Amino acid sequence: KKVINKLETTCPKSKALYQHAQTVIPNGVQHNLAFNYPFAIAMDKAKGAYLRDIDGNQYIDFLQAGGTTLLGSNYQPVLDKVQNLLAECGPVTGLLHQYEVKIAEEVIKHVPSVEMFRMLGSGTESVMAAIRLARNITGKKHIIKVGGGYHGWSDQMVYGLRIPGTGRREAHGIPKDISKYTHEVCPNDLANLRLMLNLNSLRGGTAAVIVEPIGPESGTRPVYFDYNQQVRTLCDEFDTLLIFDEVVSGFRFGLGGAQAYFNVDPDITVFGKCLTGGYPMAGGIGGRKEIMMSLAGGIGGKGGKKTFVGGTLSANPLSTVAGYYAIKEMERTNAAGIAGRAGDRLCAGLEEIIERRGLPYVAYNQGSIVHLETSGVLLLTLAKPIKALRENAKRKHMMEQMGAAYTAHGIISLAGSCLLTSMADTDPIIDEALNRFDEVFA
Ligand code: PLP
Repeated sequence: KKVINKLETTCPKSKALYQHAQTVIPNGVQHNLAFNYPFAIAMDKAKGAYLRDIDGNQYIDFLQAGGTTLLGSNYQPVLDKVQNLLAECGPVTGLLHQYEVKIAEEVIKHVPSVEMFRMLGSGTESVMAAIRLARNITGKKHIIKVGGGYHGWSDQMVYGLRIPGTGRREAHGIPKDISKYTHEVCPNDLANLRLMLNLNSLRGGTAAVIVEPIGPESGTRPVYFDYNQQVRTLCDEFDTLLIFDEVVSGFRFGLGGAQAYFNVDPDITVFGKCLTGGYPMAGGIGGRKEIMMSLAGGIGGKGGKKTFVGGTLSANPLSTVAGYYAIKEMERTNAAGIAGRAGDRLCAGLEEIIERRGLPYVAYNQGSIVHLETSGVLLLTLAKPIKALRENAKRKHMMEQMGAAYTAHGIISLAGSCLLTSMADTDPIIDEALNRFDEVFA
């Protein structure tokens, strides 16, 4: 109640806009990352580590548009390049442009397993493309994902309530048949994965195992260090392709992504988010030449059994120039390293607050991805399905309320449970954030 009162007093314009928005937009927000409890806060300025809302309140931004702005919001050197390009040719031509070649070269240079790169419109589309490619190449149909992992909102991937092993689908409106080729295994459970691979062998085989190499849901359920290597070994044993979904970890975990960190080469890598430095449209897939060459290119895509991918605005000049210079700047500035240290500082400070105040919380981080969760969350991985569902509903409600409390104290989080740091998060900014968290918990 205190939080809601505070938000209503300090954000009257946001509240009014949100009330109006609900009359023309289902649920009042266009984006599912936009927190709308108790109402959505409307922003009109973003720079570096800060956001400002339409009532003039300032926030420290740990949402980072879902993890896209590793260099900080509205980063000037990239903005300058984008503005130059827009003045020259506008955002789109539909024809070959030098920056789509340049961005491909950058990705190939930095990401160990990538020899060729194809840009697409979003992470969701890129996962769809990777799966289609894997099915075409292997001639097999089944896909295995790790329970709790989010791989975009395509019909075949919106499966499971983000709770390992429940077999429950998150979205209605998806015919059951569509998910009959998608199977979930528990995180960190290699015996479970082997069992599923064996079962699939009896029904035609597994085209690909898709994992977030940092653990399901951006590492909310972290994986053991050698987990990815063991999955790689199992994929080789079963003649199955390994897809790394590096939509979150790509560039954020360093220029080579999580695959460089874990030293494991997937067959296909999926990119998004940081790829374009926060500019639309962020997506792409990469891999070895012989795999990538089976994508259709140009009209018709001559030769062999080609995999069709599409997208009117994919790899447009705006996205590619932004991505090219964003990657160059990430390299020049060591953005991932700086953001990672900010994440370490934030996490250490949160642990200190949790300890000092005796809170039923846990903070843990993988570099610039910081999780601030109810202490039971890690147990969800082990819980029985029904209990896990119930616990997760409770957790989601609690996180929503905590997210609103953080907002009321000038901090924007991802769903109340994840905090993403950027290169713009200097020590004083992190310390200011920790003071705000301390106020919340007080
Ligand atoms: N894969 C992962 C690991 C993600 O976190 C997301 C989005 O959050 C996606 C895929 C989907 O990407 P997009 O939202 O660009 O479609």
